[in-house]
Amino acid sequence: MTSLTYLDNLALAVDGQWLGAAGRETRAVHNPATGDVIGQLPMATPAEIDAAIDAAARAFPQWSQRSAWNRDAILRKAAALIDARRDRLAALLTMENGKPLADSQGELDRVIETLQFCAEEGKRAYGRVMPPRAPGLSQTTIKRAIGPIGAFVPWNFPAVLAIRKVAAALAAGCTVVLKPAEECPAVCIELVRALHDAGVPGGALNLLFGDPAQISSRVIAAPQIRKISFTGSVAVGKLLAEQAGRHLKPVTMELGGHAPVIVFDDVDPVRAAAACTAFKFRNAGQVCLSPSRFYVQEGIYEAFMQAFVERARGLQVGDPFDSRTQMGPLNNPRRLEAATALVDDARRRGAQVRAGGARIGERGNFYAPTVLTEVSEDAELMQEEPFCPVAPIAAFASMDEVVAKANDRSVGLAAYGFTNRLDRANEFSERIEAGWVGINNFTPALADAAICGMKESGLGHEGGPEGLDAYLHSKFVSQSSRPV
Ligand code: NAD
Repeated sequence: MTSLTYLDNLALAVDGQWLGAAGRETRAVHNPATGDVIGQLPMATPAEIDAAIDAAARAFPQWSQRSAWNRDAILRKAAALIDARRDRLAALLTMENGKPLADSQGELDRVIETLQFCAEEGKRAYGRVMPPRAPGLSQTTIKRAIGPIGAFVPWNFPAVLAIRKVAAALAAGCTVVLKPAEECPAVCIELVRALHDAGVPGGALNLLFGDPAQISSRVIAAPQIRKISFTGSVAVGKLLAEQAGRHLKPVTMELGGHAPVIVFDDVDPVRAAAACTAFKFRNAGQVCLSPSRFYVQEGIYEAFMQAFVERARGLQVGDPFDSRTQMGPLNNPRRLEAATALVDDARRRGAQVRAGGARIGERGNFYAPTVLTEVSEDAELMQEEPFCPVAPIAAFASMDEVVAKANDRSVGLAAYGFTNRLDRANEFSERIEAGWVGINNFTPALADAAICGMKESGLGHEGGPEGLDAYLHSKFVSQSSRPV
């Protein structure tokens, strides 16, 4: 349980000034577990959006010219401050997002790791020295910060997804205009506060909330902004990439997926089902890497499905502040409606509901962990990213058949295979069209591993050394030491 009941920290940060809700247009923030209004979020005006962009542009020369060692010290200090404040931050995150408190603490662990990793990596933004084409020539590639950037992040992992962009951009020497999701503002506000407290100048990290389309269109069109980074749905990603294309601005797009899990008949079906349920229902299925289609080889289908159903039914769903809770509510009513519509559509097409299949109670956005079988491949659930706690399970006969089904989507973010046979593991990793592959395990996004979705799941990398590189420009310099 928490003593927190109201988000009293909601504010924008423009050029180091915190602008609260008093006397301006606001938007209500809701607790997903109760539906109660828990805060009023100020909405940025067009003038404030422009002021944030100008501030990021003014702060850029000074921030980018600091040494990487100085930026490293500041980012490390921010990591330490976040660690010291973690209990309050975890409570804010659980209250506005709905994930269990232990998961919020886990997300903060990854925030801290990401800050530390990016701080270090900034010191390794080496260029390249080429063998000169003639005596007296020095020919090098040097890496320099790309400029002020616009970053847009969603509500499912509001803390770590914001920090993956902000830490890499700041470590590279870029300045930032950040727009998190309006559904989960409080934890991002505290992350920005910690970065400011640690020494990031106010103008180097600005924070906006408001009308998403208005903010993104102004930020993308502003000539001062040199790069756009977005995490969210394919539909919004395409829209923003199209707008950025008009201004020839580079983009990093971390978009959705529809991750297949292929369970071959040489594994223990009960152990595989235990691993699959634990990851499937994490964050109530609202994870871009979430397993969302389960294909199980015929010989073990029944045993796997029974074990999966039993575990799904046994999950503790409820108050995310209760330490026994394994799954909290969905974040917002839109996801609740989406879960209901996907299950209704699958049912109409002949699916069998083996577990769950309905909302829990009338208060909050709770939806039961749900397992469906006999789901037609053309059901909406099999075609669009579910982003909810609904798991379809189907049987397959051969590698060729299942790889064809798994790859037959416009997205390719993550895919998972369970097998003890090396030949199957190798063939699966080779043939599967996904940027993130798990064999016999599920790994959440790591600070040091780059994610780069295939097909419509994304453009460019986030995480790892490549994630820092996304905020750097490589400049070729050929310099002669001969007098002219
Ligand atoms: P949504 O499309 O209404 O909003 C998704 C997010 O995009 C929100 O945070 C919103 O503020 C932002 N957004 C919307 N329009 C924008 C614009 N023009 N400019 C900038 N930002 C904009 O849908 P939703 O119900 O919140 O989520 C539904 C879908 O979003 C899911 O099906 C899932 O595919 C996707 N999603 C993906 C991720 C991810 O990590 N890849 C995270 C959250 C949501």
